[in-house]
Amino acid sequence: MTYETRLFINGAYMAGNGPALPSHEPATGKLLAEVASADTGQVDLAVTTAHAAFAKWGKATPKERSRALLRIADAIEARADALADVESVNAGKPWRYVKAGELANVADVFRYFGTAARNVPGTPANGFRSSRHTSILRRDPLGVIASIAPWNYPLLMAAWKIAPAVAAGNTVVIKPSENTPLSLLFLASILAEFLPEGVVNVVTGDGPNVGQTLITHPLVRMISLTGDVRTGRAVLKAAAGDSIKRTHLELGGKAPVIVCADADVDNLVETLREASFYNAGQDCTAACRIFVDQSIAQEVTDKLSAMIGSLVYGAPERDDVEFGPLITAAQRERVAGFVDRARQAGGDIVAGGKTPEGAGYYYEPTLVAAPITTEIVQKEVFGPVLTITAFDNPETALGWANASEYGLASSVWSRDSTLAMNLTNRLEYGVTWVNTHGVFATEMPHGGMKNSGYGSDLSMQSLIDYTQVRHIMVAS
Ligand code: NAD
Repeated sequence: MTYETRLFINGAYMAGNGPALPSHEPATGKLLAEVASADTGQVDLAVTTAHAAFAKWGKATPKERSRALLRIADAIEARADALADVESVNAGKPWRYVKAGELANVADVFRYFGTAARNVPGTPANGFRSSRHTSILRRDPLGVIASIAPWNYPLLMAAWKIAPAVAAGNTVVIKPSENTPLSLLFLASILAEFLPEGVVNVVTGDGPNVGQTLITHPLVRMISLTGDVRTGRAVLKAAAGDSIKRTHLELGGKAPVIVCADADVDNLVETLREASFYNAGQDCTAACRIFVDQSIAQEVTDKLSAMIGSLVYGAPERDDVEFGPLITAAQRERVAGFVDRARQAGGDIVAGGKTPEGAGYYYEPTLVAAPITTEIVQKEVFGPVLTITAFDNPETALGWANASEYGLASSVWSRDSTLAMNLTNRLEYGVTWVNTHGVFATEMPHGGMKNSGYGSDLSMQSLIDYTQVRHIMVAS
């Protein structure tokens, strides 16, 4: 396979002038491509190009923007096999899931925002000071959005950022993760078929240099990041530099799963098969820590252990695998380190807990029984690792969940709707599922609280996040 490795600026590919970064195949550790970074001048060129393109795109009608996005959605579907090939090999994801799940979602996100562009809700014009003063609200685009994407869902996270921003009339300079730049560089050529030059530009490179140069550029009006909490802090500092920039932060998570005594345990275990282990657990919403009523703790532990023993992982091109390798050797070492320290701290490794022999950055699906204070129960692991901790009372579990620094995703499991709603309403999390976990709808917002960040992806709420509300008052 050959890969597009050049930057995409002003509707054309351009070789990067900065240092080349290696892009690997996580399933084998082999080098896939060397991707040259953008240098400072090229980041500046991308932003000034986007700024120039905004003069026209910001004034395009909702109908024109909608048309482009709907066509992009169709083109992604038409090229889904080829896009899935690149995404699967570069991110180590099972091909069949990328094709049927993630690429279908990428197309759906462009299609949804294509429709949303023409349906922004508004407040009727009205007279508030007197009947002579008519107040009108406008929702205008902001200008150039700097988008910074992570490696765990390279195309999907790029779609979550590009589609609402462009639907609202902004222009974008996006930087993919240095680990997984290849699929977005390919997607750029599809976007360019339907969007005017300069509306979406892609620069490659690392975070501290290229990312930092992008987010501090004076012509950038808003920074949208999906990434680590540490990177979120860097964005907030950059946003308060020489110019004041709006920020949109989707950061880490550590999703609690509160399992009450009357929960449907078989449904729970079957749901966690995917909700905990999809993408090798490298998912900010992954159901990664189970808080279970002590009366059913042994049953849940035994059934989870059996389920984990039946999980199939391996080479992404195989038709039977449920997850593939971790993204890098460093990420695998990080995950193994959490498990080793949990073991030393007295945690019980109920299943897995080892690095398998052979090539590729694989790690066994793992279940650790550990007390609430253990590091592995508190910190984001971002791997195929589940913890289980028993509670004596649902209020205890609620307290544990809300004591977390994170506030992204959570779930509550009970057949008693009063108990379930009572807990759900008091959870400090942007997303709470009841009797399920990890199910997304493009029409519904996704976002966090506390150190998980703020701002919504998906839904009309996201499109609104990429606009500026303006009050116009007309005296007559
Ligand atoms: P990361 O923060 O290391 O990198 C994310 C992106 O930020 C990369 O493109 C990187 O190059 C860039 N970056 C790093 N430092 C930067 C800086 N100083 N200035 C500008 N850009 C910089 O995160 P990652 O390891 O790629 O992704 C994993 C993290 O993303 C996890 O914490 C995960 O929970 C989070 N995540 C959150 C969501 C969500 O919706 N909340 C979704 C997916 C992933």
